[in-house]
Amino acid sequence: MNNTELVDDCLFCKIIKGNVPSYTVFENDDVKAFLDISQVTKGHTLLIPKKHLTNIFDYSQADAQRFLQYIPEVAQAIKKSDPNIKGLNICVNNGEVAGQVVMHSHIHLIPRYGDEDAISVPHVNNADDYDETRYQEVADAIKDNL
Ligand code: AMP
Ligand code: ZN
Repeated sequence: MNNTELVDDCLFCKIIKGNVPSYTVFENDDVKAFLDISQVTKGHTLLIPKKHLTNIFDYSQADAQRFLQYIPEVAQAIKKSDPNIKGLNICVNNGEVAGQVVMHSHIHLIPRYGDEDAISVPHVNNADDYDETRYQEVADAIKDNL
């Protein structure tokens, strides 16, 4: 990673720099994957480039090759982390009108356990369910499969 590719006033750049904590499941020079603070379902993970790209409209082909190649690897680790996971949604909100709140490109990977799972990504707020020990266990289960 090159620090000049990050910006100061961005939440996810701060997470990359380690200035804001995260439940990291995977990290290398190109990307970081960590649990979404509001778990739509257990194991809901965000994959972000270690370069401040606002959203998909910022990606060059080289950026796409460099950063998006990790989606299958992380998705497969999430699936393997819990035998109850039947499927997984990969969602990306690009732009405010599309529901993007954090303006650093991120890919939502949302495990599906059954028909009762909530569907919406940005409109579900389960932040009250936050539990340090449980989140760490979930992050470790994914991490162990990478
Ligand atoms: P979006 O609406 O696609 O921009 O999604 C932003 C996501 O970032 C939401 O699902 C938030 O729950 C998540 N989020 C916000 N702050 C944090 C944080 N500090 N750590 C992990 N996830 C976060
Ligand atoms: Zn950023």
